[in-house]
Amino acid sequence: MTELERIRHSCAHVLATAILRLWPGAQFAAGPPVENGFYYDVELDHRISPEDFEKIEAEMKKEIRANHRFERSIVGREEALAMARRGELASLGIRDQPSKFKLDIIENTIKPGEEISLYRNGDFTDLCAGPHVMRTGNIGAFRLTNVASAYYKGDERNPQLQRIYGTAFKTKKELEDYFAMLEEAKKRDHRKLGKELELFTFDDDVGPGLPLWLPRGAAIIEELEKLAKETEFAAGYQRVRTVNLARESLYIKSGHLPYYADSMFPPMTLAEHGPSGLGGERAFSPASDEARPAESPAAAQAKSLRSERYYLKAMNCPHHHKLFAALPRSYRDLPLRLAEYGYCHRYEQSGELFGLMRVRSLQMNDAHIYCTPEQFEEEFNAVNQMYLRYFKLFGIDRYVMRYSTHDPSKLGQKFVDEPELWIQTETMVRDVLRRSGINYVEVPNEAAFYGPKIDVQVWSAIGREFTIATNQVDFAVPKRFDLVYKTRENTEATPLCIHRAPLGTHERFIGFLIEHYAGNFPLWLNPEQVRILPIGDEAPLLDYSRGVLDELRGHQVRAALDTSSDKINGKIQRAEQMKVHTMLVIGKRDLEANAVSVRIHGQGNLGARPRDQFITELLENIARRAA
Ligand SMILES: [Zn+2]
Ligand SMILES: [Zn+2]
Repeated sequence: MTELERIRHSCAHVLATAILRLWPGAQFAAGPPVENGFYYDVELDHRISPEDFEKIEAEMKKEIRANHRFERSIVGREEALAMARRGELASLGIRDQPSKFKLDIIENTIKPGEEISLYRNGDFTDLCAGPHVMRTGNIGAFRLTNVASAYYKGDERNPQLQRIYGTAFKTKKELEDYFAMLEEAKKRDHRKLGKELELFTFDDDVGPGLPLWLPRGAAIIEELEKLAKETEFAAGYQRVRTVNLARESLYIKSGHLPYYADSMFPPMTLAEHGPSGLGGERAFSPASDEARPAESPAAAQAKSLRSERYYLKAMNCPHHHKLFAALPRSYRDLPLRLAEYGYCHRYEQSGELFGLMRVRSLQMNDAHIYCTPEQFEEEFNAVNQMYLRYFKLFGIDRYVMRYSTHDPSKLGQKFVDEPELWIQTETMVRDVLRRSGINYVEVPNEAAFYGPKIDVQVWSAIGREFTIATNQVDFAVPKRFDLVYKTRENTEATPLCIHRAPLGTHERFIGFLIEHYAGNFPLWLNPEQVRILPIGDEAPLLDYSRGVLDELRGHQVRAALDTSSDKINGKIQRAEQMKVHTMLVIGKRDLEANAVSVRIHGQGNLGARPRDQFITELLENIARRAA
């Protein structure tokens, strides 16, 4: 447990103490720390509502002020059972009812003869493995946040309990900052802004988790792809195009089937001629009946048909591996960097779908780098440097790379059984991370099946954490695909493969950017870079405005003209609401001076500029992707 988790879990004990002071018959089940806080499940006749929070919190504060020690004691199973029967566990003392959930936990999880730990804070004793903070006074600042219902052990055949949520921090300031951040996050919610700014939509007839991108959202996608293409081209990548589905055999080879089958859309079964991807296992008719006497041509044709299963692709890798294998490769061709904004489909559970963050169709900033072990360090470092350049461009100040490694005791089960390759590649990755001074943490036992991986976590401008991308080193799959290159010595060797996607998927990355920028996209990324707002609708004014519009669009600027009959203030307000980057307010004087009056979203009026000067500066700012 981290220090914060210890604080939060200790706070759950204090919550239970307070509830018992108010409702002595309360029966407690489980009270773990969770992401962003803690909860405790309680069975109680009184229905707890947020109106009760104040008095519960007042009791909690008393326990914290009393600064009780969290005292640990060890008891045998029999003694623990006796205490539970007397109602003494998760309790302030002996009661006339047994501590029924704790009794159940002991009976079902503790073996006879085993010992078990109890924790006591003040009058409250609970069955708990710990750890906790030293004293209740170490719980800095807390707040109850929510109450929901939950079944005991998550099973609907069990009693329904009330789940009381709260959170705690080391200091009052941190607690207040957290709630301020949540408030701000609500305003910046990508689902809310995505709708208001007309970026994307979901439709029941299309299906859940399948976003449709409106023109304004598609404009952001185009800009991100342009950025990726330019960056990758300069870094020596080559672009490829692959398809969205493939035969089952491809994914069996890659190992996605059967292990990843739950996350893939179910297969389509097609009848087709020709050789089967699976060597005829699923042929309609056995080949052995060839020897039988004459049959009709139709029957013969039916027999030559095979049933083939196709899957929507969930990852681009197997397709790129096939492109590597399509030509003979020599060491001179390496590193080979194949890039594609690939479309993937994954079958996320419907309960897991969430806006753009969890979707079933995703467009990934993917590339696979095939290299020799000697080239690995330079290639991997270059990938990391690309991440850092992107962070700078998007104003991402806080990030961490979570470096997941394997657990040697799980070789052959969770991890490919290649002990030496694991050590070798993990050491290489660690060396690169250390030497480049990148902010990283190492997490054992969370590597991918076929190699170590790096999850890139970033924080938005308001301090919320997002996992946007993953980097993986793969030393197993190229072998499964028989990928080889001719070495300098004219022998054959298997390349290493780096999977990388610095901009993640459009869906998740744009979801992140919406919150990060609060919808105020910088000029280069803004769906509508310029809107022209004529004051009035006299013909010469509209003609001049149209001339400016045509000139801007001729320079590939995403510009629009407001030809409505609204007053200028109304036009400005609408453009501001859509967070248009630059507004050009065009009056008679602008027309006469061949000028434009510039207004920037979030900055206000900048005054009149000569038209040519404005356009030159605008194009410069777009070209250098100014903040
Ligand atoms: Zn505990
Ligand atoms: Zn990949």
